[in-house]
Amino acid sequence: MPLLFTTLPNLFIPLAYIGPGAGFALGGSFLFALVGILLAVVAVLAWPLRGLLRSMRGRGKRRPDAAKRVVVLGLDGFDPVICRKMMDDGDLPHLSAMREDGGYRPLLTTYPAMSPVGWSTFATGVGPSGHNIFDFLSRDLATHLPVLSSTKLHRRPSRSIGPVPLPGGGSHFELLRRSKPFWKTCAETGLASTILRVPITFPPDKFGGKLLSAMCVPDLRGTQGTFSHYTSVEAHGAQQGVRTTGGVRLELDQTAPNIYTSILTGPDLPDGSGSMTLPVCATVDPVARRAEFTIGPEKFSLGANQYSEWIPVVFGSGGAKAHGICKVRVTSFEPGFSFYITPVNIDPRNPAMPISNPPHLAIALSRLQGRFATLGLAEDTWALNERVIDEQAFLDQAWAIHAERRQQFFHALDRQPDGVVSCVFDATDRIQHMFFRYLDQDHPANVGKDTEKHKNVIGDLYRTADALVGETRAKMHQDDVLLVISDHGFKTFKRGVNLNSWFRENGYLFLKTDPDQGPLPAIEKGLRYEVADVDWPRTRAYTNGLAGFYINVKGRENDGCVDPSDASALKKELIDALRGLPDPERTGEAITELWDCNEIYRGPYKSNAPDVIVGYKPGYRADWDAAVGAVSGEVISDNTRSWSGDHCMDPRQVPGVLFSSKPFAVTRPALLDMAPTVLDLLGVDAPPHMTGSSIFRKREGTG
Ligand SMILES: [Zn+2]
Repeated sequence: MPLLFTTLPNLFIPLAYIGPGAGFALGGSFLFALVGILLAVVAVLAWPLRGLLRSMRGRGKRRPDAAKRVVVLGLDGFDPVICRKMMDDGDLPHLSAMREDGGYRPLLTTYPAMSPVGWSTFATGVGPSGHNIFDFLSRDLATHLPVLSSTKLHRRPSRSIGPVPLPGGGSHFELLRRSKPFWKTCAETGLASTILRVPITFPPDKFGGKLLSAMCVPDLRGTQGTFSHYTSVEAHGAQQGVRTTGGVRLELDQTAPNIYTSILTGPDLPDGSGSMTLPVCATVDPVARRAEFTIGPEKFSLGANQYSEWIPVVFGSGGAKAHGICKVRVTSFEPGFSFYITPVNIDPRNPAMPISNPPHLAIALSRLQGRFATLGLAEDTWALNERVIDEQAFLDQAWAIHAERRQQFFHALDRQPDGVVSCVFDATDRIQHMFFRYLDQDHPANVGKDTEKHKNVIGDLYRTADALVGETRAKMHQDDVLLVISDHGFKTFKRGVNLNSWFRENGYLFLKTDPDQGPLPAIEKGLRYEVADVDWPRTRAYTNGLAGFYINVKGRENDGCVDPSDASALKKELIDALRGLPDPERTGEAITELWDCNEIYRGPYKSNAPDVIVGYKPGYRADWDAAVGAVSGEVISDNTRSWSGDHCMDPRQVPGVLFSSKPFAVTRPALLDMAPTVLDLLGVDAPPHMTGSSIFRKREGTG
């Protein structure tokens, strides 16, 4: 079974993110399922009692004018400029009606403007330095390597007596988001809450409400999403040279005419000696364009342009089993045969680790509606970025996930008449990322790709979101308040900026191969140098992630060389040098503004922030190499990937949206205000740690 490409997402990825490698406490999965079922029975029996207790606990703590229920519908990345134009054109009737009945304003986003940061602020009512999430990625101070900012894998050897696992052993994940989300305050006040797929909620908070985890839930390998692409020799020939990030590409073994075999990889073996696998077999009828698949014991048949249902896959045996689900799609019958398997999601019906609070919530939902995507970044943007699947396959996948989420949301709305219900929908973000080039004729990513077939996708996306708002409004009761919000807006992303390359060109960063004196050799186009190639004792500034950059401070970073007393002056020097950075190939600048973290952050986790946050001009963003800390030959270059829209830019240029069914008092609402606003609506005082304030209370100096 020759592996053609195995570029595991070991380093990448803001978008497929970092894969810390597998690390599951497999021994517990059977016991976990058993405990889950028992808890579910207890929960059903205790339901009336819990309701009574809740109302007793909450009595006297809430103001009498409170809303009975607050519903927050999150549309990730829903952009105010596109939205406004479509409302003016009469295209978004339900959002327009909300604007008339209640109110609408752009919603100030976080610094930086990206989902993990923004939704953490939404949850906690504090800025990034209060909740510790500053980017998709952070860096390891010992190695300078980028690491996932939101969760940390703690590896510990499993301990067991025979097949019975002992507590305290096995690997586990830690949520790195700090502070306290508003749903915990709700629970303490006796209010019901259902929180569905709000990013940065894995592992799930333990509290007296319901929560289904989202962004940062790993796949069964323990990565943030690793797809598999299988190709016969002929099909591979057609695709030779395609680099694969975020997935693995495997060459199929042909065991007989039209019969192909391979393996599907699951989690690591408990002893770390390799990975668990399952056999995959496909029998192809090239005339009928159909393939019969077998994965483990599961059999199914697929034609062209068609996804399978969620296929349950079980890795391991005995007590060490891990249950996953995946979907399969044939990507080519001719020339040669190839197919794609999604990242193996944790099976919600039998989760290998808790992905909900209470843990049995995911199990109950999957019994109710069937299996559903559980991976944090469920839509496989990387498979499209790498052109393993096409636009249509990506859309089919994104809309199927959207339908699952809609069902979960409406189920919660039907079941829970009071408290707070909040659900975040991601299709608005993921589809804009991948289809923004269709709105921009000159986009470098359009070269060699279709520019006609899907040109209405983003318009349709906004109309579908509007229809969702309409359906949600129809489920509102008299004393309910509906808020529709997004965490940031969207812009085109045509040109990537590699600050590491700029640092090198300007004498702030050196490669190990660079001479001590004299001019530095140019880096050949297409070549890049990784974090390990950087000469750290000589390097004063570096970047990774999408938010900003770091100073290589002595005593903080390993091999840091900038005296802490000189760091402020160096920051100022770099901010002044980079403000207005010109793009030599275009007229205008690539960076509009930069912010010293000491000036914009006040919270307790400020020291974990990038030292400088960079405000790219719309159209620009950190480039793909810089995002993983690499150095390349060009400071600014074309972005030719399908991922053609973005928001990791000057936060002032990419606000989100806020629609309210109830008129509000302020003219410049911010994401920071949403948690105190929800609590205020429910008649609960915001806890003192929250720095935002309710949009329904007039502020000094505001309208
Ligand atoms: Zn996004």
